[in-house]
Amino acid sequence: METLFTTIEEARRWASLFLKKHHREERVADWLLEHHLDMNYTGLLVYGRDPFPEDKRKLFIKDVEQHAETGIPVQHLTGWAEFYGRRFTVNADVLVPRPETEELVEGVLQLLNHTSRSNLLNIVDLGTGSGAIACTLAIEAENVEVHATDISAEALRLAGQNAENLGAEVIFHQGDFLSPVASLEFDIIVSNPPYISYAEQEELSETVSQFDPHLALFAEDEGLAAYRTIARQIKQSASSPKLIAFEIGHQQGEAVRAIMEEELPVYHIEIRADINGKPRMIFAIAEN
Ligand code: SAM
Ligand code: GLN
Repeated sequence: METLFTTIEEARRWASLFLKKHHREERVADWLLEHHLDMNYTGLLVYGRDPFPEDKRKLFIKDVEQHAETGIPVQHLTGWAEFYGRRFTVNADVLVPRPETEELVEGVLQLLNHTSRSNLLNIVDLGTGSGAIACTLAIEAENVEVHATDISAEALRLAGQNAENLGAEVIFHQGDFLSPVASLEFDIIVSNPPYISYAEQEELSETVSQFDPHLALFAEDEGLAAYRTIARQIKQSASSPKLIAFEIGHQQGEAVRAIMEEELPVYHIEIRADINGKPRMIFAIAEN
């Protein structure tokens, strides 16, 4: 085989160009280099002229080629995704946690930390996937009991593993959103449910549509079905939460507001934008 590169710098250049030619994101080159060389970004720059370690060459090239050819997410190649500064193990059974979901967690934490209290708060994360939201809240928030549900047994297995690895105390339940815990009383309900409409399937990148589980992505009723199900489940449950926080698709703000106003009229609904200025969260706060 021809020598594609000798130094780390040359490996970066080779991989970026190769990915570009295949219409993939060039920065994936850096992420894979960081993973294989166990370095951070600064390391790649500082040690750029060092020879690329021979024993890592084959696997690195294989990962670059596989991503270029199939669009497999980098996180599936490395086996982990970073969320709120921690590593979560991921695989094909769970959605790769997204940066916008970190903002949802941040919003919940801000509200939690603004209320001075001595009482324990009960939180539930519906559709927990990798466990990213539930584990982060369990670690970051003081004096809380965190539950999490998912309909997927495979996802729950991985989420349980993540909780254990991170030392997060989370109680997991299998079932349809709130239903397995309908008899418990929650102060905060948080969820990033599936919200993509089936009509949008064609527009998704391969990295999403071919690799994230469809159970995590798609919902009926133009992507709105889960919000209505959850709102109705809350209405019929033992809970009257102070806060319901949802991640939403950027065009769903008004539609989710309407669902909430219809099903749970005692809440004040706030549509919140993410760091890019797009409406990506709904915070429903109990009026009293
Ligand atoms: N909470 C994780 C995150 O933010 O990265 C995963 C969110 S993913 C968009 C949605 C999750 O909801 C998936 O893990 C999926 O298995 C789960 N799910 C789908 N339908 C469900 C249902 N009816 N009841 C409970 N969980 C469901
Ligand atoms: N944010 C994900 C995406 O854009 C979708 C996650 C979801 O449906 N909740 O692919």
